[in-house]
Amino acid sequence: MIEQTVISENYRKIFTSVWDLQILAKIKIHLWHLLKNYVPHFTNLVQRRLRANSVCPLCKSEPEDSHHMLWYYSVLRQLWFLLNLSLNFGVFTSDGKTNFVSAFLAMDMNSKKLSAISLWALWYRRNKLVNEGLHFELHEIVGFIQSYGQDLSFVQTKDLTAGMRRNVL
Ligand SMILES: [Zn+2]
Repeated sequence: MIEQTVISENYRKIFTSVWDLQILAKIKIHLWHLLKNYVPHFTNLVQRRLRANSVCPLCKSEPEDSHHMLWYYSVLRQLWFLLNLSLNFGVFTSDGKTNFVSAFLAMDMNSKKLSAISLWALWYRRNKLVNEGLHFELHEIVGFIQSYGQDLSFVQTKDLTAGMRRNVL
């Protein structure tokens, strides 16, 4: 019961926390949609009978749903690692969405911004792949996030080579 109360309280807190971030509204809206399960990911399309297969188009291992996209996405974990947003995933024991909410609330402001922007950028590239067949490399997303706003000078990425740096979207 106590744990349930903490979870509900966290869900209340995260919406305020997301809206307070100084980032573009569309990025906040995407995160809000993920948390509310409004994103048209494959599991939602299968439920609306618009698709037969819910397997994630990126990792091709698990169904693509909000838990996957907020937490279990292997691509997201690699991206967060590259952005020095590494979390100790092992200490989180609830479902994917609840884990994300706890982890997000514990982050400092810059990490919150980075995680929100990375979720949005990943969804953007995932759509390019699904709709236009455009493949991408993770370092392209890192470059995209770095070049996204001039105010993102706080982004400290792991050792990207000069060649990768040139390859900005
Ligand atoms: Zn996946």
